[in-house]
Amino acid sequence: MSSYKSDIEIARESTMQPIGEIGEKLGIPYEALMPFGHTKAKVSQGFIESVKDNKQGKLILVTAISPTPAGEGKTTTTVGLGDGLNRIGKKATICIREPSLGPCFGMKGGAAGGGHAQVVPMEDINLHFTGDFHAIGAAHNLLSALIDNHIHWENKSGLDPRRITWRRVVDMNDRALRNINVGLGGPFNGTPRESGFDITVASEIMAIFCLATDLDDLSRRIGNIVVGYTRDMTPVRAREINAEGAMTVLLKDAFMPNLVQTLENNPAFIHGGPFANIAHGCNSVIATTTALKIADYVVTEAGFGADLGAEKFFDIKCRKAGLEPAAVVLVATARALKMHGGVAKTDLNTENVEAITSGCKNLGRHIDNLSKYGVPVTVAINRFVTDSDAELQAIQAFCEARGVQAFNCEHWEKGGAGTEALAHHIAEVADSGASKFELLYNDEMSLWDKAEHIAKTLYGADEIIADNKVRKQFAQFEQDGYGHFPVCMAKTQYSFSTDPSLMGAPSGHAVPIREVRLSAGAEFIVVVCGDIMTMPGLPRVPSADHIHLNEQGQIDGLF
Ligand code: ADP
Ligand code: MG
Repeated sequence: MSSYKSDIEIARESTMQPIGEIGEKLGIPYEALMPFGHTKAKVSQGFIESVKDNKQGKLILVTAISPTPAGEGKTTTTVGLGDGLNRIGKKATICIREPSLGPCFGMKGGAAGGGHAQVVPMEDINLHFTGDFHAIGAAHNLLSALIDNHIHWENKSGLDPRRITWRRVVDMNDRALRNINVGLGGPFNGTPRESGFDITVASEIMAIFCLATDLDDLSRRIGNIVVGYTRDMTPVRAREINAEGAMTVLLKDAFMPNLVQTLENNPAFIHGGPFANIAHGCNSVIATTTALKIADYVVTEAGFGADLGAEKFFDIKCRKAGLEPAAVVLVATARALKMHGGVAKTDLNTENVEAITSGCKNLGRHIDNLSKYGVPVTVAINRFVTDSDAELQAIQAFCEARGVQAFNCEHWEKGGAGTEALAHHIAEVADSGASKFELLYNDEMSLWDKAEHIAKTLYGADEIIADNKVRKQFAQFEQDGYGHFPVCMAKTQYSFSTDPSLMGAPSGHAVPIREVRLSAGAEFIVVVCGDIMTMPGLPRVPSADHIHLNEQGQIDGLF
């Protein structure tokens, strides 16, 4: 393995084209770009407006089987397939999420793809990029400041300081800020109360930013945010403290999608990055819809395994934005299948065909689940150099028996040349009109029924369970007029069940619902089925320990 270069070494050796040339490939005139340096740019609102009536391209979702903690390569495959499509002469682009700054200093591993399938400039993308997350953090914290100010003066809305649900955010893994007291120090410093910080990607503003169709919709949704409750439990909205205008001003520039390029100089949109647990885990609607108007094929990624990521992509993002995906690529790896076949995480690099065959039940369940949406499914086997031919054949044989096409993909090692066969197939499927997309549930079902339907049909569960307090909360949200919202399931991505150690394709389990949360601006109800961390910590030895500038002024140790 040591003969392979690190992601950052590969990225550093790439030759980037000026961003104007990248824009040209999609017909974006230079005047419509707002360059950040030479290789990053935002795309202007005026241009977005001007392409609104263009013909719509084909949308392709990349999702994955239940992963190992290392990730199975959704981003890498999204980039690789985008490059593959361009390589076979298609006008294609990709849409992925912006990485969060916090995790870069925690565990090793970026979020800009890997090997020869990356987006660049990768250091910038992984760090401050074009400042979007800072803007989102500022808008979020402006609302926090306005709330405390509102209470400090007349508190006209009657907001109960004990019932404020809006917290503060920072884009850093900082466990010490999870729970804090604010307003200490006497009457001049506000009203003392308990609060805390979440990481910026967990902010409801991030979810809103990624679901809003335009700036008016952004402002409307921000106004709808419920920041807390009065003593008699009447919701108080951001609108009631006049926050949405100023917050939208802070977000105005960030809301323009970011254009960068892949290692093979193909255009890539990277915009927004909501958590995949308490939010829906997809890049912004504005980037996706814009990309669809200027490219024939748009490849995009949804966070986590398909039971969560694809489900939310379809049932939240596509439902809200009226998108109709033309094809789904389900990423599978030999190592994850071995894990689902019972192999210990420490032994995943050793050949074990039997374990793969047994672990394919996880892949099979995901194939079944995705077919319920009416979108044709193709399996991309993301090849690792440690995989044996026999292992890959075992995955192929399983897919063949299931009547699903599977392709060995070597984009990590070879870039777009490693996904050519997949690209040909996906273009054909997307063009065939075979997709008959349908949502898993309709708006009219009760919130409880929506969650139960997902748990039974996708997770293989027998039932969902919850105590009275949670059931009452479901009823309260419906009474408050939120019953038509989709549900946003927050569950472990490692298992179909709520127990991360249950591998394969468990069935007959119960899904306990611990808590339900309202995201009135994002317009979904978060159904929490397990431990949910909205402010991560750093590990004992954080990767920050090794990050520094070398003698050439380059960043070392990032990935
Ligand atoms: P996901 O988007 O599913 O979380 P990523 O694409 O970010 O996964 O990949 C996770 C990690 O695995 C990254 O560090 C990436 O470089 C690495 N990786 C992905 N595919 C391969 C591969 N075929 N061989 C080696 N490493 C890979
Ligand atoms: Mg990813």
